[in-house]
Amino acid sequence: MAQRIVIENCAIATVDADDTEYASGYVVVADNRIESLGAGKAPEGLRDVVRRIDASGHLVTPGLVNTHHHFYQWLTRGLATDHNLFNWLVALYPTWARIDEQMTYAAAQGSLAMLARGGVTTAMDHHYVFPKDSGDLSGAIIRAARETGVRFTLARGSMDRSEKDGGLPPDFAVETLEGALAATEATVDEHHDDSFDAMTQVAVAPCSPFSVSTELMKQGAELARRKGVRLHTHGSETVEEEQFCKELFGLGPTDYFESTGWLGEDVWMAHCVHMSDSDIAAFARTKTGVAHCPSSNARLAAGIARVPDMLAAGVPVGLGVDGTASNESGELHTELRNALLINRLGAHREAALNARQALRLGTYGGAQVLGRAREIGSLEPGKLADLVLWNLDTLAHASIADPVTALVFGAAAPVTASFVGGRQIAENGRLLHVDEDTIARSTRSEARRLAQIAAQA
Ligand SMILES: [Zn+2]
Repeated sequence: MAQRIVIENCAIATVDADDTEYASGYVVVADNRIESLGAGKAPEGLRDVVRRIDASGHLVTPGLVNTHHHFYQWLTRGLATDHNLFNWLVALYPTWARIDEQMTYAAAQGSLAMLARGGVTTAMDHHYVFPKDSGDLSGAIIRAARETGVRFTLARGSMDRSEKDGGLPPDFAVETLEGALAATEATVDEHHDDSFDAMTQVAVAPCSPFSVSTELMKQGAELARRKGVRLHTHGSETVEEEQFCKELFGLGPTDYFESTGWLGEDVWMAHCVHMSDSDIAAFARTKTGVAHCPSSNARLAAGIARVPDMLAAGVPVGLGVDGTASNESGELHTELRNALLINRLGAHREAALNARQALRLGTYGGAQVLGRAREIGSLEPGKLADLVLWNLDTLAHASIADPVTALVFGAAAPVTASFVGGRQIAENGRLLHVDEDTIARSTRSEARRLAQIAAQA
């Protein structure tokens, strides 16, 4: 017997293939799925309705999907604020290499809470710092995601190219090739769930060309395909990375990725700022996905990714907060706006992106790059009930007639309710399953503990 939740009297942006919208409509949730939706009032005579929500003044959208992040950086926000990527990495690696399980758990809680209170229903963490004897970091991150109630992908990262091999991280911050592969495989075996309504998935995610050996890239790709899981890494983020790849491998980043088996429909890559026409064509041909991180790219002066060209070519593109050491706000709903504004500073100017395209990047596009577009990313009967009620009946939004314009162009809209698989995780901007004040205190004390340990080292 299904339990139903009826949401009525709201504007709805479904983000389906036709961008169907309703100025005033309803959504019926039955257990963990969307059962029906449409214009006007919900059908009469529905049985087993456990809750009826009058959502007047609200816009309902699919839950936001974050496609790139580094949760542990929650403890090192606001540092190296005037650096480019390589200088910022060199400044922060020595501190990052001191994290332990307790710090990683607190940082994950902080990062997840910030995402979830802003309408994120599917999160991911690309975690690639595994200091020796630091405990079960992957387990701690997954525990924090379960407690928050969001759907989650852990991209199990790794680094094995340190300073002694021409890489950027210090020698003590990396794993061995064999150690990284074995630990990644164990994480997939323990935590990856490939069912339709999975709450936890795992991807294989060596960090970047300048911190990972060619052998780890190749064997990581083989491991992911043997296990049937997705592949994630950083790519084409900066001019310096391009030079690094050309000097070390004699290839630009995209050609290097292709040579190591890293283009394909099971791959998504963060940033992709410095892409030539032929790089974009290669991504489109192979259906390789992109996590666009506009605020982080601006913070580190990396440049403007060619999102309009990627979309025109058919490249799947989602949005990412990126780690909060390079995007201190840690929010995804503001990235809808930043993606739109930053791309309008690029070659396509006012035609670069519109509000609907920005919303699509943050929802369906994200589901595509995480490999979950069958299940989430749009509001359609049969899909999982991951959805958000944005309150637009506020001082900040009430005078903007079009709700999608209000959401994307306006101030960050408050979340009245947020559901993951039909289970509510946020109400009136507060999380229901974790305590934000407790998390704020523990992240502050863990950030101080990390700073002290790093200063003594
Ligand atoms: Zn990143």
